[in-house]
Amino acid sequence: MQTKMLINGELVQGAGEALPVLDPATGQEVVRVSEATAEQVEAATRAAEEAFETYRLSTPAERSGYLHAIADVMEANIEELAELETLDVGKPWPMARDEEMPLSINTFRFMSGAARTMTGSATAEYVADHTSMIRRDPIGPVASIAPWNYPLMMAAWKISAPLAAGCTMVLKPSEITPLATLRLAELLADVLPKGVFNVIHGRGASVGDALINDPRMEGISITGSPATGMAAMRAASNQIRHVHLELGGKAPVIVFDDADIGALAETIRFGSFFNAGQDCAQPCRVMVQDGVFDNVLKAVADQVGQIRIGAPKAEGTEMGPLISAAQCDRVAGFVDRASTSAEIAVGGQAGSGDGFFYQPTVVANVDNDAEIACNEVFGPVVTLSRFSDADEALRVANAGRYGLASSVWTRDLSTGMKMSARLRYGMTWVNTHGMPTAEMPWAAMKGSGTGCDMSVYALDAYTSVRHVMVAH
Ligand code: NAD
Repeated sequence: MQTKMLINGELVQGAGEALPVLDPATGQEVVRVSEATAEQVEAATRAAEEAFETYRLSTPAERSGYLHAIADVMEANIEELAELETLDVGKPWPMARDEEMPLSINTFRFMSGAARTMTGSATAEYVADHTSMIRRDPIGPVASIAPWNYPLMMAAWKISAPLAAGCTMVLKPSEITPLATLRLAELLADVLPKGVFNVIHGRGASVGDALINDPRMEGISITGSPATGMAAMRAASNQIRHVHLELGGKAPVIVFDDADIGALAETIRFGSFFNAGQDCAQPCRVMVQDGVFDNVLKAVADQVGQIRIGAPKAEGTEMGPLISAAQCDRVAGFVDRASTSAEIAVGGQAGSGDGFFYQPTVVANVDNDAEIACNEVFGPVVTLSRFSDADEALRVANAGRYGLASSVWTRDLSTGMKMSARLRYGMTWVNTHGMPTAEMPWAAMKGSGTGCDMSVYALDAYTSVRHVMVAH
């Protein structure tokens, strides 16, 4: 198994502490991966800084070629990469291969086109005999930090945009799920010019902290928890750096009396329990208009009760384990505390076996201000609460600290449009939820972050707008 880091085009073993990587489906150790020392972090940032001097001058067509080549390499190794992702995260095998890998590859293909679309908005003589023009140039080397829930897909989002924009980078995957990213690093060692893309391994508090505080890094890009986002903002404030944050979420699913309840319940079954609910856009906070509450609860409970949990490769597995014992305990804590004031309609217990399993869970009649309704659980749990009219639904949904994903369920187009305009979330779906596409932004507002991944708008975080004036 490939456990080396990629620094300046060379595969090197970490010289720091060896950290265990566990299989969440069994709790057994898969391998140990050594983390980077402070010197190795510095070697990676130095490599990115040096490579920036030439990579920033590459043409959009050259960068487009690199991104296409990355997509080709991933496509050629799709089975192996999905296999590693399944082992690392415990997710059902078909989902890693058939859902996540295609979107990851497609993001590189999209960005290979986007690299060639960047334009300035004006060239004109705003002062007589002086021609002004707008340039969009790469910000510099980027420190990039990825989470454990979709390790390779999040890495794909984090790698493709800066490389398209002309930035070099050092990426640190989560210390608990590095395997697919380290293999990708090996596959890309000969695809990209040396130093353009570097991968280091290690814990957040040591290696991650050193990376985001390194003076050579001009940008800091994080996908992770709000606490890590805050650490990035503190690091950026010390040196005045660009910051791009994609953080946690608590997605409201606002169900009006006229909604298609069958379609909603199917979406909850698939969307809320995909990746065992460890998803920043997870449709988790179901808010139901009074008139259909009982019908929605019945339909959702019926769908969720049918979900089959099991080992990632077992026939028919819809949901695998959670990432770790600690995550299981965290989820159980939320559900146990909620059970004193709400009804556990489905699940509510840990799963059987040695792995980190927790049952798909529906908690009903949850108060809108309850702990479980307002905080990110990040597990296979949905809550159902009530509202009486659109104004109340908006007030409750917009009061949350997060602003990532949301959805509205109604057959009335006017209600859908009005709610979409007023919800303060980076993404609002009407009559569906969580559907990503590389052309559209994965966008954050409020406590969920700044900016977006995917789409041409992702390039904004990695480019600076410049004014050039020529006197003549
Ligand atoms: P986490 O913040 O614990 O870890 C994320 C990464 O940050 C890891 O690589 C970790 O090592 C690193 N890190 C931790 N502390 C650090 C520090 N002080 N300095 C530098 N790096 C540090 O998050 P997680 O538990 O891996 O992921 C789950 C979180 O990610 C959830 O909140 C989820 O909503 C969020 N997430 C958001 C999106 C999005 O697009 N908005 C996507 C996926 C996950």
